[in-house]
Amino acid sequence: MDSAKELDIKILRGLGEKTAEKLNKIGIYNIEDLIHFYPRAYEDWTALGSIKEIYESGNPGCMWIQASSTISKVRLANGKRLFKIQGSDGTDSLDIIFFNNYYVALNLVKNEKTLIRGNVTKKANRYEIISPKIYQNTEIRPIYAQTKFIHSERIKNLINQALKTIKRPLEETLPDFILKKYDLCSLDFAIKNIHFPKNLKDAETAKKRLIFEEVLVWQIAVSKIKNYVKRKTDIKISNSFCDEFLFLLPFMLTKAQTRVINECMEDMMDKNSLSMSRLIQGDVGSGKTVVAAAATYAVIKNGYQVAIMVPTEILSVQHYNTLNKIFQGTNINIALLSGKLRLKERKNLENKIKNKEINLVIGTHALMGENLEFAKLGLVVTDEQHRFGVKQRMRLAEKGQNPHVLIMSATPIPRTLSMMVHGDLDISILDELPPGRKEVQTFCVSPAKKERAFNFFKKIIKNGGQGYIVCPLIENSDSDMISVDEYKNKILKKVFAEYNAEILHGKLSRSDKEKIMQDFSSGKIQILVSTTVIEVGVDVPNASVIIIENAERFGISQLHQLRGRVGRGEKASYCILISSLNTKDTQRRMKALCSTNDGFLLAEEDLKIRGPGEIFGNKQHGMEEIKLAKTLKDIKLLEVSKKVAREILSGNYLKEDDFKIINWKVNRVINKTQNCLTI
Ligand code: ADP
Ligand code: MG
Repeated sequence: MDSAKELDIKILRGLGEKTAEKLNKIGIYNIEDLIHFYPRAYEDWTALGSIKEIYESGNPGCMWIQASSTISKVRLANGKRLFKIQGSDGTDSLDIIFFNNYYVALNLVKNEKTLIRGNVTKKANRYEIISPKIYQNTEIRPIYAQTKFIHSERIKNLINQALKTIKRPLEETLPDFILKKYDLCSLDFAIKNIHFPKNLKDAETAKKRLIFEEVLVWQIAVSKIKNYVKRKTDIKISNSFCDEFLFLLPFMLTKAQTRVINECMEDMMDKNSLSMSRLIQGDVGSGKTVVAAAATYAVIKNGYQVAIMVPTEILSVQHYNTLNKIFQGTNINIALLSGKLRLKERKNLENKIKNKEINLVIGTHALMGENLEFAKLGLVVTDEQHRFGVKQRMRLAEKGQNPHVLIMSATPIPRTLSMMVHGDLDISILDELPPGRKEVQTFCVSPAKKERAFNFFKKIIKNGGQGYIVCPLIENSDSDMISVDEYKNKILKKVFAEYNAEILHGKLSRSDKEKIMQDFSSGKIQILVSTTVIEVGVDVPNASVIIIENAERFGISQLHQLRGRVGRGEKASYCILISSLNTKDTQRRMKALCSTNDGFLLAEEDLKIRGPGEIFGNKQHGMEEIKLAKTLKDIKLLEVSKKVAREILSGNYLKEDDFKIINWKVNRVINKTQNCLTI
């Protein structure tokens, strides 16, 4: 395999134990790591100019300067020392100023001519340059992310040495036909020129190729981890039954729903018999359930079974009720596979699924128990998929003969990032809310003014409304956070005594949870005090107000999800965030939520605040394998490499010799990433 991987960095001249340790700290263990430690920027020391030219350009530039004075020293009022030298480029002269850096200034005076770089300004009609950089060569200078342990210039020299030491040209990682087809340079050229380009264009060429490979490896790895690979399938969907389905609904579909349903149908009726592998991203309340129902209907009508997997028991009951209503009067048999079932009931149900007496099964991951066998599984739907672990998602898809896969998520993330994390998924976006919806008006209130929030809340309940109150905790700990128990024992009695209120949290028994949700759904309960268990999917259109206690405890996307419990009907709806705005970060989050209801905009803001690493899950997410593409704006390049990744996977080319290094890299990402990808 690639020899550089086996070469310890210590083979480099003058590299001792100490430097090795410093390099280890930044993730460099062998020569391969070293040559793949790319510069974070370049300084162009090739574009030389005169003092006047650089002044007029307004940009930093390089010039050869000859010192024409000794160093004059000034002590400033703030204790800093200033060193000033006069220099000349042969035509004009300028004042060169350094702060506290006598040795650099000294260098300038000692040398015949010195190459300096910076912005030239004018002061009292004299040219001036402040703290210019000094360098020896007219070249493109790579700048590495230096730490307090190791300086950029040292890294540069080590890489230079490494490239001279190892076998060149470097062994190619991509097959020739891919390089040609997508106009990519060789790995050898890329590595040489990402570090030491003759000009910035070569650096770009190198970067393009390295990004392509990075993204390709990442895409293949993510697709393999998530098992979202389009595969040949024998499942034949020849009719979409869309018209029939429309008659089952009490409303008209939105344009977006129609479009996304069509995208699903096209996938499932694919001429090349490849399975559907599609993600539906839609903001909360955009009506994803109906899309799933349309696909479900088509698959069942074509003679197959469907499984719908949801992350919580509450949601499975809700979907069961919703779909029973939609499919009323059809001959579709629906089963709720609940963890509550007794052994005998469960066995009985399993038999019916095996014999195809049941067409549609809804359940939590209890669904994936080993004994569950389907007669003819045609479609697996995963709702609110961000709540599942990766392994849980995989297992259900393995139960059929390459069933179609439909995934629904209310976690919108920016498109570039989404293309990276979702691997080989096609993405549909539901970007329209059903008609009549009003924005949920959102306010942020300090705990001191909670009384007013309560009064507002009560006014809505009095007028026939229903509302949620969300707390971060079930029981009180010593923290200053509000708990569901505190509501139960104190606040409900004191403030909301005249209303029907109940509490809900994960520790209640299943039947209690179900009963409470049902009573809330039917309007018997007016106020539901809950933990975040209501966060995903719960749909009670009459509820029009939500109070969130200790809102600072939650992230943007979680608050947006919680807020999405209201504004689902035609009533004007409100979200009241109770929070002391004691940090900048909290202020930013609350402000974002109060200013928009658009989940995609909020996702962008979230990404800005938290950075991609956090969004991917915990720290060791394998994202360190993405070095250049992280800040990538170039969707085209992403799309191309995604397409190639798909070709490689569906053609099973990874095993071939041409791809042995890519395969090795894919496995490396998989090992680092598979248990921590949370999206
Ligand atoms: P989410 O995308 O958050 O899962 P749901 O599927 O729960 O949203 O739908 C939210 C609400 O909107 C439900 O009460 C559903 O019946 C209703 N709904 C969905 N589509 C439409 C539509 N086209 N017209 C009117 N109401 C709709
Ligand atoms: Mg939903």
